[in-house]
Amino acid sequence: MSTPPLKGRILLHVCCAPCSTVAVERLLEEGWGVVLFFSNSNIHPGEEYCKRLAEARSLASTMELELVEDVYDHKAWLECVRGLENEPERGRRCLKCFQYNLRRTAATMEHLGLDCFTTTLTVSRHKSSGDIFAVAAALPGFIAMDFKKRDGYARSIALSRTLELYRQGYCGCEFSMVRRGTK
Ligand code: SF4
Repeated sequence: MSTPPLKGRILLHVCCAPCSTVAVERLLEEGWGVVLFFSNSNIHPGEEYCKRLAEARSLASTMELELVEDVYDHKAWLECVRGLENEPERGRRCLKCFQYNLRRTAATMEHLGLDCFTTTLTVSRHKSSGDIFAVAAALPGFIAMDFKKRDGYARSIALSRTLELYRQGYCGCEFSMVRRGTK
């Protein structure tokens, strides 16, 4: 079987290692050269951030991919969503949150000289892919990829079990810290 041609180099915003499994699988199948970008200042507390980052590092190592790590600045993120603390999940706070992380991803793509970027956020069944695309459409270089399609969420769970990845029980910020089962 011949290797598919390389489409280009894409920066993949990684929300967490479990969601990244299926996204990486699909991008590699499609012939992309993938660089991972961990940018998640939304995560609280810091211990949880470190745990998720460690899993992303482990996945990058397993898949032999480069992982670029953003700075963690939860204070700046809180400032960004100020006034929206009581919004429900999938509400306006989440749109701001997507914007915060995806703007940083777009800037990093440009800084690294990559061709385009996308995000693993569309894997989660708790997030609207349409909302994510609407926020990201304004950012140059964004490619809309709906990783939920073709049972992407179920595939991410299966791959995460195989790789024994930690699967968090809440989205990430302190406002989402209500036990809701796995992401
Ligand atoms: S619930 Fe999730 S997507 Fe929404 S603001 Fe919190 S961390 Fe961001």
